[in-house]
This record gives sequence, structure tokens and C-alpha cells, in this order.
Amino acid sequence: MRIIEHVKEILRKHVKVWTILISILLILVNYFIIINLNHNHLSFTHLMYIPIVISGSLLGYLYGLGIAVIAGFVVGPIMPRDLITGEMQFWGDWFARLLMMALVGVIAGYFGTNYRKSSIRIKELELKHIESGLFNTKYLKDMTLSNNQFYTIGTLIIGNAHAICDVQGYETYYAYLRKIAENLKSTYPNIEVVQPEIDHLWFIKISDHFDEEIKTILHVIQSSKKIGNDTLFIDYALGFTQRKHLFEKEVSKYFIQSDIAAREAKGKNLPYLTYKDVKTNRQFEYELLTDFEQALHDGEIYLVYQPKIDLKTKRPVGLEALIRWEHPIKKSIAPDQFIYAVEKTNMIHEMTQKVFEWSLMYQTRLKEHKINIPISINISTKNLYDIYFFDKMIEIFKRFQIDAKMVEFEITESLLMENPESSKRMLEALSNFGFKIAIDDFGKGYSSLAYLAQFPINTIKIDRFFTNQVLINPTTQHIVKATIDLAKQLGYEVLIEGIEDQDTANLLEKLGCHTAQGYLFMRPRKGEEVLDYLKKYR
Ligand code: C2E
Ligand code: CA
Ligand code: CA
Repeated sequence: MRIIEHVKEILRKHVKVWTILISILLILVNYFIIINLNHNHLSFTHLMYIPIVISGSLLGYLYGLGIAVIAGFVVGPIMPRDLITGEMQFWGDWFARLLMMALVGVIAGYFGTNYRKSSIRIKELELKHIESGLFNTKYLKDMTLSNNQFYTIGTLIIGNAHAICDVQGYETYYAYLRKIAENLKSTYPNIEVVQPEIDHLWFIKISDHFDEEIKTILHVIQSSKKIGNDTLFIDYALGFTQRKHLFEKEVSKYFIQSDIAAREAKGKNLPYLTYKDVKTNRQFEYELLTDFEQALHDGEIYLVYQPKIDLKTKRPVGLEALIRWEHPIKKSIAPDQFIYAVEKTNMIHEMTQKVFEWSLMYQTRLKEHKINIPISINISTKNLYDIYFFDKMIEIFKRFQIDAKMVEFEITESLLMENPESSKRMLEALSNFGFKIAIDDFGKGYSSLAYLAQFPINTIKIDRFFTNQVLINPTTQHIVKATIDLAKQLGYEVLIEGIEDQDTANLLEKLGCHTAQGYLFMRPRKGEEVLDYLKKYR
């Protein structure tokens, strides 16, 4: 098979030379047939039309004409009319034949050229998108890659493609895609750009320096977003992979890995990821999850507590329970590193139940020391989707002698936006039972306090982002002040997160904030230490 492909390839490359050689060979063969096989030899002259039609239709009318003239002379003045008598042809005869042949050569050339032109056009229409003019995936079928070569393969996803089309128009969007392709081509002449879907582009080129090529492509995409007078807002993500070409026929399969990487980058709001990164992340995640369940039961996972401080009296008025994982090999793993992975599995339910149980146990222990303080725990998005969540939490709660109003659940603002109806029902059930509800990380999302008013909320926890800004940024100060005022009008407690210095604490007290949490007062600490600390305020 490969030999046939090889031969075809050589024929395709030097089609002109081959056609001329073959046509002349056919003329010579015909000449010998005419001379040797027949007494009345001139009756075979029509065989000469074969090379004339071949060269005309394949190479155009000039070549058809040229071959016709050669053929016309070969069966013309140099050939006797009769071999036996040696009588030559009358010039008018052979000249008329030559003219006939020339006419056929030109006609064959005309139709051949037209046919080739329209088939190229049809092929182009078949291989390109009408709107963008970029190649589609059919183009990959005809693409020949060099064997044993490494290729840099990339996928670009434009997350807001439809929004760009709606707001700026399709023409602007396609102009952007074309511009990317042009700029890539002028940077790397050997790169191929294909558009598999409206919001995707694929690139493939021979790898010279994989890491550098990633950076360059990233730069080209960022710098292509000015179209005429418009600068587009592009929400994009890129995925890359590097692969050796080993006789694989379907080039499109090579983009599976870069697609996966691009999708993962998009999900994580990163500009790009390589397939290798994704694989290592997934492996890390997989290993974490394999260890997690065991860790939950054998003490590797535990809670620490951070006090909430009344800004006026400077006394602790509550605790927040925060999870910790001391992994024997991976050492201490931050919650941000494992909770998102656990949330993808049903282990998140067991985790929250454990956290609740441990915090209630700790609260019981504090009570034994005559310390009565509310504790809040963090609830994951996925917990509220569990229809048995409420029942399970109540079942755990009833095993302890704790007042429900001493328990608070912290829920992030974005969670409520995701599924407001079911969240509302769940929060109402918890609130009606007597538990307190706090909105965590307020301000990080986009919801207004007015929108949140439909939920049974007791406390608003303003996100750490604002705390960092409030001293240096007057706008942030206005926002925080307005938020505190409105929250108070709506009857909420206001807590500010992440206070690290005294000046910020003073300012926020002045702005009317009730309570605060932060390293300034105390970092999250193990139960024993927090107990010692609380004893001082008993
Ligand atoms: P969060 O609920 O916003 O928790 C506050 C985070 O801010 C904690 O990080 C805390 O250690 C940190 N923090 C407190 N004061 C300061 C400060 O002054 N400066 C700075 N830079 N940071 C401060 P941590 O413990 O790493 O927890 C991170 C996130 O993980 C939490 O954010 C929460 O969303 C999640 N998380 C922690 N424990 C649990 C849990 O038991 N269940 C669930 N579902 N999520 C949890
Ligand atoms: Ca929290
Ligand atoms: Ca928070």
C-alpha cells in the first residue's frame, strides 16, 4: 500500500514531465505500429489522438497544441504514403491532418483546464468554511505529515463566541478568526490552522521548541483582538499537546488531547494548559481521593478553629471550624487543594457530616469548661443538592445537647445563585429548625443584597478581597461602607474576613462593622490551643 502511495506522490509532484514523456513515448510507439504492422499504414494515424488528448486535457491547450504538431509531423512529411513503393504524401493531406490534430489538442486543453479549475473550486468549497474562509476538518484528511516528527498541536476555545457574534456581528468575529490564522501563518509559515467548530480553532506545526511555541501562539491570540476600530473582549482558553507522527491516518484524532487540555483550562479559568499538566493534575486528584476516605477516619483529617471577634469589645463571639489534612507523604494539604476534588464525588456528604459531628463534639467539650460559644461550619455547594442533607444533619445534631442557635452554616454567595430554588428550600428548613445562616465570601460574586433578602440569612461575611483594599482604595471603602449600611438596614450581622493589621481593624470598626476574623486576632488553631485562649475570656 505504501509503495502505491509513494508512486502516486511522485506522479503528482512531476505531472508535467511525466505527461510529456508519456505522450512522446506514445507517439513513438504509434509510429512503429504504423510502420511495421500494416501494409496500408496510414490508416492507423488516428492513434496519435491519444497522446494529444492526454497532454491537452492534463496540461492545457498549449501543450495539446505542441504534442499535436509533433504527432502531425511524425505521421506527416517524414512518412511515406506507401512503404512498398516509397511514395511520399501529398503536402495538403498531411497538413490538413496536422491542423485537425492541432484543433483537437486545443479543444482538449480548453475543456481540461476548465474542468481542473472547477474541481479545484469545488474542492475549496468543500474544504473551507463559507463564512470564515478557514479550512474545516475535511482538510485534515488530505494533509500529509512527516513521519517520526514531533508536532505541536493546539486547540483554541473562544468561550464567548456567540456573545461576540450577537454584539459585534458575525463578520467581526470571523475577521478575528481570520486574523489569528494570518498572524500565526506569518509567524510560523509551516503552521496549519483549521476551524472544526464555530468557537474552536486547531493548529498543528512541526515542533521546534514546544514551550516557546506555546508562548508565541498565546501572544498572537491576545494581540489579534483589534479588528478595525473595535477591540474585542475574548474569553479564550488554549490547550496544547506534543505528539510524534507515526503513520496515523486520521490527523483529527491528534486534537483529542489538546481539546481536553483546552476544556480543562477553560473550566479552571486559565489561559492555557498542556495535556501533560492535565494528566498530572488528574493523577494527583485521583491519589488524593483514594486516600481521602481512609484519612477521614484515622485522624489525618481534623478541624482547626478561628475566633470571630467583636470589634467593640475585642472579645471572641464565635468560632469558625476549618478543615485540615495532614497527609503522611504529601504533608499538609490546604482545603482549597482537596475540597474541589472531593466535591466532584459523593464523599463530600460524608465529609460535611464528619465536620459537623466534630464541631459539635468540640462545642460539647467547651461547654464542659463553661464556655458557651457559637461555631460555624462551611457547607459545600453539593451538599444542598442532597435531598437527605437536612435529615442527616438533624440526626447528628440530636446526639448532642447543643442549642440550635449556637450552630451556624456558612454558604458561599455563588452557591445560592447556582440553584436559588432548591437552596432556598433547604436554607428555610435549616433556619426554621433554629440554625443560623451566614453568607460567605460576600462581594466575590455578583449578587446584590436586595437579591439575597429572599433567603433566611443572619450574617453577611464580607470577602477578604475588600479587606485588603479598604485602606488604600477609596472606592472599595465606599462599597464596604454602603454594604455595611444596607446589610444593617436589612437586619443582618456584618462580619469582615481576613483582617491582618490594626489600622484596617480600626477603620472597619469606624465604618460600622460588628465582627471580624483574621490573622491579627488569631490564626486558625487546633482545639486545645483555642480552648486555652477562650478560657481567658470565660
Ligand atoms: P473560607 O470559608 O473563606 O475560610 C476563610 C479562609 O481564610 C481560611 O482558609 C482561613 O485560614 C483564611 N484566613 C483567615 N484569616 C485570614 C487572614 O487574616 N489572612 C488571610 N490571608 N487568610 C485568612 P482555609 O482554612 O485555607 O480555607 C480555605 C477555604 O476552604 C475556606 O474559605 C472554605 O471555603 C473551604 N473550607 C475550609 N474548611 C471547610 C470545610 O470544613 N468544609 C467545606 N465545605 N469547605 C471548607
Ligand atoms: Ca467560611
Ligand atoms: Ca470566606
